Amino acid sequence: MDPLLSLLADLVRIPSMNPMGRARTGEAYTEEAVAEYVAAYTRKAGMDVEVCPVAPHRPNVIARVGAGAELTLMLEAHLDTVHADTMTIPPFDPVVHDGRLYGRGACDTKGSLAVFLFAVASLLARGTKLRYNIILAAVADEEYQFTGARAAVANGLRADFGIAGEPTGLHIIRAHKGVTRWRLHTRGTAAHSAYPERGENAIYRMGEVLVRLDAYGSGLQQSTPHPVLGPPTLSVGVIEGGQAVNIVPDLCTIEIDRRTLPGETREDVLAPVEKLLHDIRGWSMDEPHLSVKGMDVAGDSEIVRLLVEGISAEQIQPVVEGAQYATDAGTYNEAGIPTVVFGPGDIRRAHTAEEYIEIDQLHAAVRIIRRMLT
Ligand SMILES: [Zn+2]
Repeated sequence: MDPLLSLLADLVRIPSMNPMGRARTGEAYTEEAVAEYVAAYTRKAGMDVEVCPVAPHRPNVIARVGAGAELTLMLEAHLDTVHADTMTIPPFDPVVHDGRLYGRGACDTKGSLAVFLFAVASLLARGTKLRYNIILAAVADEEYQFTGARAAVANGLRADFGIAGEPTGLHIIRAHKGVTRWRLHTRGTAAHSAYPERGENAIYRMGEVLVRLDAYGSGLQQSTPHPVLGPPTLSVGVIEGGQAVNIVPDLCTIEIDRRTLPGETREDVLAPVEKLLHDIRGWSMDEPHLSVKGMDVAGDSEIVRLLVEGISAEQIQPVVEGAQYATDAGTYNEAGIPTVVFGPGDIRRAHTAEEYIEIDQLHAAVRIIRRMLT
């Protein structure tokens, strides 16, 4: 079998589903086994390998190879996938047909991981002189809280530029939005619903909050757009409140999703909401439980130029664009590593019931990466 395909098939065969904060346990819901595989693969290729725990049984793998070069390039891909509950094909029994490889993670993003591993290992096996020192980072928890990338940066990961592997269809994503999520509560006083005047209704109070957030969100859509990403957005996606219909509710909670533009700070996100609600009593906000930065790498930067060159050599028209989804690239850019998003596969196949990746794109991506490295 084609060694690239057999590598990807091995990676798909090892479940590494993100528990997504829910009560899911067992080895299939950790990155540990696939991390061990990646560590063994990179060690065998002759790289220096560190396995760094991010959470119990959820490690990052950081593999390095020096080339005596001035600059260091990071190739990064996440180890985790979303769950497989709703899949209509065998998730961990990869099948190859019609020029595709099927299975959970094939597209998002074990395809990119396989490309990076194979590209580097095959060059090392041939003894090819590399143009850059290379860091291959395979990290945990991209699909939920981005803690793997954060831990890698906190542990001192540094490079001169980087690529975060995600299914971009070989397009170069040089900018994407960030996301901040947090909970907001309104409180009241419980009472028997036959005497509502004796209580204070936390749901009615939230009603006022929601009307204002709706108007604020519409205003954001009208604000000055980013040239590639458009305007920032705000959406309330979850509401919970009340214990029973015959009790005046004393608590109501919403969850807010705010998509940020590159450069927007925590303060830019939270302060306007606080101001908006200043004359409403009895509400409070939790600290954000998710906050990942947007990113905006200059169109004429070295990493974009290198990829454009590699893509053009494949007789593919290079596409440099923005994306609405957030990735680990936000964390690396924040840490001063200009990192774009690039990889084989179609983002519309990610997280789906019949996830697959086009084999042609895998091979093209390997050639593009190898060209960059030599
Ligand atoms: Zn992904």
